[in-house]
Amino acid sequence: MTNKQQIIDRFLSYVKIDTQSDETSESTPSTEKQWDLANKLKAELETMGMQEVSIDEHAYVMASLPSNVAHDVPVIGFVAHFDTTPDFSGTNVNPQIIENYDGKDIILNKEKNIVLSPEYFDDLLQYEGQTIITTDGTTLLGADDKAGITEIMEAMKYLIEHPEIPHGKIRVCFTPDEEIGRGAHKFDVEKFGAEWAYTMDGSQVGELEFENFNAAGAVVKVSGKSVHPGYAKDKMINSMYIAMDFINSLPRLETPEHTEDRQGFFHLNAIEGDVEETTLHYIIRDHDREHFEARKEMIKDLAAEICSQYERDCVTVEVKDQYYNMREKVEPVMHIVDFAEAAMKKADVTPIIKPIRGGTDGAQLSFKGLPCPNIFAGGHNFHGKYEYVPVESMQKAVEVIVQIAELTAEKYK
Ligand SMILES: [Zn+2]
Repeated sequence: MTNKQQIIDRFLSYVKIDTQSDETSESTPSTEKQWDLANKLKAELETMGMQEVSIDEHAYVMASLPSNVAHDVPVIGFVAHFDTTPDFSGTNVNPQIIENYDGKDIILNKEKNIVLSPEYFDDLLQYEGQTIITTDGTTLLGADDKAGITEIMEAMKYLIEHPEIPHGKIRVCFTPDEEIGRGAHKFDVEKFGAEWAYTMDGSQVGELEFENFNAAGAVVKVSGKSVHPGYAKDKMINSMYIAMDFINSLPRLETPEHTEDRQGFFHLNAIEGDVEETTLHYIIRDHDREHFEARKEMIKDLAAEICSQYERDCVTVEVKDQYYNMREKVEPVMHIVDFAEAAMKKADVTPIIKPIRGGTDGAQLSFKGLPCPNIFAGGHNFHGKYEYVPVESMQKAVEVIVQIAELTAEKYK
């Protein structure tokens, strides 16, 4: 079993480095400061004894652990991202360590009266007696995904220190800019050279995910005709009223706040408008590819219908696909999910297999030819001041990685 203090020390050394990404930047990495952690990781991988350690011009860090068995084993990979979300500050992260958690409120910040309470976040209760790392209430923690990085690093170190555990060649990759949806964009899948991989980027202990949304964005532009209100009779066309017709014609209950599990939705994310022009920003989500395509058609058909209703070309729609459900790429190689599930059971972790209501880097990687389910990293309440991670969950994740390595070597014997 891996050393708990070692995990804590490593994790703290990572979260103290600010690596916030920035969606308004065009470069990769999107922020210069992400190099700070990328370079540190490269140096640590080298010191640890990993092979083929590299960092490319976009800050993707890769390394290999050579096989220690004589027979052929498929190369597998583990992936995590080192950036944190632009949604919340990641500057001067000052973590607090709560040992032997008593199941009561955790005061994050006395001065500002910020409390992490199990009354509101009842997941906390499953970690009674464990060591919990929280924020000080002023920043996020960065367990998303520095917990994942910590776990991969610790697992590699463990395998190096325990050469009696058989494993094939293992590749690891740490990426920038996942939080702005670009973690996979410049990921060199060919150079990585793994047959399949796992992102260590899920939430609570046990999570195992190989299904995510199909995703598209739609921009609906409605044009009107602005005329002086005093002289507007039979002349003015108010684009905002047409936009309201459009909004109300989409199924009102197929929205994020009325759906769960594998139910898809249309989400009206933003409106800008005046008499002359109104723009609606939608996102479209559905796990089922056919339903997803049907939703996109529905938006286009509705635009056409409203145009004919008003007898003018007043609504245009631009739909752009964002990412797809990795299930169609993972299902043909279902053994990679089975390995993860078996590894969890061997590590005494109950697998929680459920569809993600979002996307992952693994989804994009799967479509780039690297099937890539997602495994828990252990944290909760990502992207805000209530983020926390139980150290025991990170320990379990390390064990799961080690078990996957060993199981894969065994299965191909
Ligand atoms: Zn993440």
